[in-house]
Amino acid sequence: MGLVTALGLVRYGVPVVVLEEDERLSLDTKAGTVLTRTLEVLHRYGALPEVLSASLRIDEIGELDRATNRSTLSVRTGELVDDTRFPFVINIPQHELEPVLRLVLERAAPGALCMSHRLVGLAEEDDRVRLQVETAGGSREIEARYLLACDGGRSFVRETLGIGVEGKTLPERYMLVDLRVDLDVENPRDYPYLAYFGDPQEWMILVRQPHCWRFLFPLAEGAPAPTREELAKKAQRFIGDVHDMEVIGSNIYSVHHRVASRWRAGRAFLMGDAAHLITPMWALGLNTGVLDASNLPWRLAWVVRGWAEESLLDAYEQEQAPVATRGSGQMAEAARANMGREVGPVAAMSEGAWGNAFTRALLGVSLDVDGTGDWSMVETGTVPTPVRAGDRAPDLPLFGSHGTTVHLHDLVADSFVALYFTDARHRPRLPADDVPGLRHMVVSRWDAPHDSGLRERALFDPGERVRARFGFDLDTIVLLRPDAHVAALLPYEPDAEQDAAVLAYLRLVGRGGSATVSPERNQTPEALLMGGTS
Ligand SMILES: Cc1cc2nc3c(=O)[nH]c(=O)nc-3n(C[C@H](O)[C@H](O)[C@H](O)COP(=O)(O)OP(=O)(O)OC[C@H]3O[C@@H](n4cnc5c(N)ncnc54)[C@H](O)[C@@H]3O)c2cc1C
Repeated sequence: MGLVTALGLVRYGVPVVVLEEDERLSLDTKAGTVLTRTLEVLHRYGALPEVLSASLRIDEIGELDRATNRSTLSVRTGELVDDTRFPFVINIPQHELEPVLRLVLERAAPGALCMSHRLVGLAEEDDRVRLQVETAGGSREIEARYLLACDGGRSFVRETLGIGVEGKTLPERYMLVDLRVDLDVENPRDYPYLAYFGDPQEWMILVRQPHCWRFLFPLAEGAPAPTREELAKKAQRFIGDVHDMEVIGSNIYSVHHRVASRWRAGRAFLMGDAAHLITPMWALGLNTGVLDASNLPWRLAWVVRGWAEESLLDAYEQEQAPVATRGSGQMAEAARANMGREVGPVAAMSEGAWGNAFTRALLGVSLDVDGTGDWSMVETGTVPTPVRAGDRAPDLPLFGSHGTTVHLHDLVADSFVALYFTDARHRPRLPADDVPGLRHMVVSRWDAPHDSGLRERALFDPGERVRARFGFDLDTIVLLRPDAHVAALLPYEPDAEQDAAVLAYLRLVGRGGSATVSPERNQTPEALLMGGTS
């Protein structure tokens, strides 16, 4: 998570130092599938082309009954073409993903990643954290304004801060096996590139990675590690007799479901596995961490730029903790039970082809943006439902005055944007873009008239496709955040004394009492540090 978070911070112009205790990136066989929402985050952080080049794209996640080979809840990501520019998920082993992210970070912020730098002590002062770091060349002290702990499940930072974890470890362990085998030509099989084979006795997940096939299955409590021959035999029980198969890697690991009791202590924030260890089912381990890395960087950037008060940082835990604990956590547990054919809630959460794809691609993440406790992870149904506050906005195209296509997620990538869905012919009054971090634009199926003064601040929505997908009436303002979540849905009242979007934004950035904000401080912030690489 350190690399993804660092890419985000660098994208927002926040100086960053990444500390990694090891001298090289991990070669362990760990996560293998990256979900659609993560692809959107990698796109925002400028790393997607390189990641896609190294991956295999998938438009079907197979859910099969092993005994009958019948599809049960298979996911078709093509259902998502009207929701995202990336209607697919990808397979890439984590140990191949990390070097790609590292290359992109080195290009964006040369020297930011410090290998062989182990964090061994930390102390917080009023305006900074002081870190003790051990390197090959001796001890160093580093100061930073904030510390983002991306240091994994055994987080040194979390333990040093005395933050406990709550949850359990499963009695069984999981085993991952990487096989070199040709299932296309030599031994043709018709498996989806990612397939979950449910079975009460022996479930199995089959993943086609760019350079191998991967199997994941449970090892009963106390069972010894299988030998290579036993592994090969086990694989053959699933895929039948095959020529020229070689076991090229394996890993056995304990499966946890644990979440930190607090995610913030002063200037330190927990992220990724340091905050939550999720059963790695439905790819919810790594991808849940990326949701953290989508949420915190823009908040820090707004504070560091002087556009927001420190209170903006509090909502990180408020929004992400329920997503990990009760969202991904419960979903992964339900998926695990479903694999063993235990009766569970998976069927209910997979209802409808669109809802199933939307949920499994992790596009259904709706955040508690207003502290009301309203959040969710699951969408059901056959057609998209209206967008609500907290939802991730669909990434639909609009058209600028010069005919350029503007996707919603790109529009907001480095700013809040208030979109006024109204009739451009009526010359709606827009507030000036003079509040740092907030822009205003009209969206209309009527191209803004040339004498309206709105040509450069209007987006054309032919057929009102975007408004229809959002599902609200005309004269509505959508306030979108940089992470493409809907911060608020507001009525547009042209005669109101104060603009509703400006008021909502100022409240959000902690400046609700005044209708003005201090100008950008334009200072060079101290570097932000974090431990951890993935
Ligand atoms: C065997 C295994 C299989 C998995 N399979 C899946 C899967 O199929 N799907 C899925 O979604 N997820 C899976 N996961 C989970 C996924 O790998 C993790 O969620 C993900 O790696 C979390 O990233 P992270 O950066 O938070 O932690 P990590 O990847 O653990 O990274 C932490 C980093 O911090 C460094 N570090 C630790 N302490 C210090 C220190 N004091 N100073 C400096 N650096 C430090 C470590 O060296 C490490 O590089 C699996 C995990 C494991 C272990």
